[in-house]
Amino acid sequence: MTIRLGLVGLGKIARDQHLPAIAATEGIELTAIASRNAGLPDLPYFHDVDALLASDTAVDAISLCTPPQGRFEQALAALAAGKHLMLEKPPGMSVAEVEALGRMALDKGLTIFATWHSREAAGVEPARAFLADKTIRSVRIDWKEDVRHWHPGQQWIWEPGGLGVFDPGINALSIVTRILPEPMHLVASTLDFPENRHAPIAASLAFRTMSGAPVEAEFDWRQTGPQTWDIRVATDGGELVLSHGGSRLAIDGVQRMAEPDREYRNLYRRFVELVGTGGSDFDLSPLIHVADAFLLGQRRVTDAFHD
Ligand code: NAP
Repeated sequence: MTIRLGLVGLGKIARDQHLPAIAATEGIELTAIASRNAGLPDLPYFHDVDALLASDTAVDAISLCTPPQGRFEQALAALAAGKHLMLEKPPGMSVAEVEALGRMALDKGLTIFATWHSREAAGVEPARAFLADKTIRSVRIDWKEDVRHWHPGQQWIWEPGGLGVFDPGINALSIVTRILPEPMHLVASTLDFPENRHAPIAASLAFRTMSGAPVEAEFDWRQTGPQTWDIRVATDGGELVLSHGGSRLAIDGVQRMAEPDREYRNLYRRFVELVGTGGSDFDLSPLIHVADAFLLGQRRVTDAFHD
């Protein structure tokens, strides 16, 4: 059976990644768009998810590509209407709302897929396999990019629930929580808030693994020039470096791979699999670490930010 998909929120990531990935994936077909200000030629178009669900356009599943604020109501409507659900990262604004969605999907026998696209980067599974039998000595994460380049004019990222620098930073946390062979927990957090914004522009985080190894993370949205998305893991069996957002892997300085990007194609292939088998994929650990960073966060006020 081909899954008939309704996509909600036709913005940057929907156009850049979701549309081409859906088109390239067997077993799923885009049949409707819901977005307040955008549609696609030749496809039924609705102002919002409620209008789509109330229409006679048949969909089996909904993919939410909207900002996290407002995602809960859209997701609730989709599940209540009996639709399988795929969520962009972060899966929602708060841990509790996302957990509630997970329970609802389970109760109704529907698939829910909280996606973490960075986990699909080519180096991530090989890194997980390498680290599986190693002793972790330390981890260093540098995730530094230019917000003006990657989020031009987006206001929601600066509002409560928009996560600020954790919007990219949660990608790093999604990788680290996948590759490390043991859980970690936050012990300290410093957040830099521009004086005119509600969300942090930079964050310094300190975690410990269960066996006590330090995990340090620096997230910064003020980096111009070359961008940095690197994770370094020192182990008893050598140093592993995941760079370029997880698409390149080196061990002790020797490059192991450099693969083309297939992140979103992998996500849609997985969604088709999950719907087909009646499964769900719903790991909230990256969101929990972000919530902890706000819970333990020491706040510093920094220069105003203007787009
Ligand atoms: P975006 O360009 O702002 O697109 C989101 C779309 O959702 C908007 O175009 C808007 O379309 C719709 N929308 C519905 N309610 C909205 C609201 N209250 N405020 C603003 N837009 C609203 O954002 P995006 O970059 O695509 O990000 C969407 C999600 O994907 C986020 O969770 C983000 O973390 C994730 N993501 C983004 C990237 C990236 O590189 N940009 C990468 C990976 C994941 P209408 O105005 O037509 O309703």
